[in-house]
Amino acid sequence: MSSQHLNDIGHEPAVEGVCGESSPGRGYDCAVADCLFCKIIAGDIPAERVAESSRTLAFRDINPQAPTHVLVIPKDHYPDLGSLASSDAGLLAELALQAQQVAEAEGVAAGGYRVVFNTGAEAGQTVFHVHAHVLGGRRMAWPPG
Ligand code: 5GP
Ligand code: ZN
Repeated sequence: MSSQHLNDIGHEPAVEGVCGESSPGRGYDCAVADCLFCKIIAGDIPAERVAESSRTLAFRDINPQAPTHVLVIPKDHYPDLGSLASSDAGLLAELALQAQQVAEAEGVAAGGYRVVFNTGAEAGQTVFHVHAHVLGGRRMAWPPG
């Protein structure tokens, strides 16, 4: 594959027919039909977008749990933190960077903010497209509920 077929950070584009399935070296790398967050990425469901990069999107949570509550997601579909980390650690790092940038833009970085990946139903994950909750603007309790 020539370089013109690679995206801006050198990854191969998604291949049709593997949506939602793991493929060697790629993981889950295209939109999944009935995934809520894939629909937000596609613009099929509206969301208040606050930041975007070529591979990530940040938008406000519809049911905020703090004055700042933003979700940061990869544009490629991975169901949870483990599948993302094992398939594309660089993309996970991009999520962390965007979480920090959102916290700075929201004015909560200096005071402190929390990043949460609910992973699995028992931990409270309800949308199985990996997302970082970025929470700030109030004092956080520990341990979490
Ligand atoms: P989880 O429970 O999976 O960790 O987090 C899912 C989050 O998605 C919840 O905080 C929930 O409020 C948020 N959410 C669910 N549906 C929508 C939606 O349609 N739009 C937005 N912006 N957030 C949503
Ligand atoms: Zn998805």
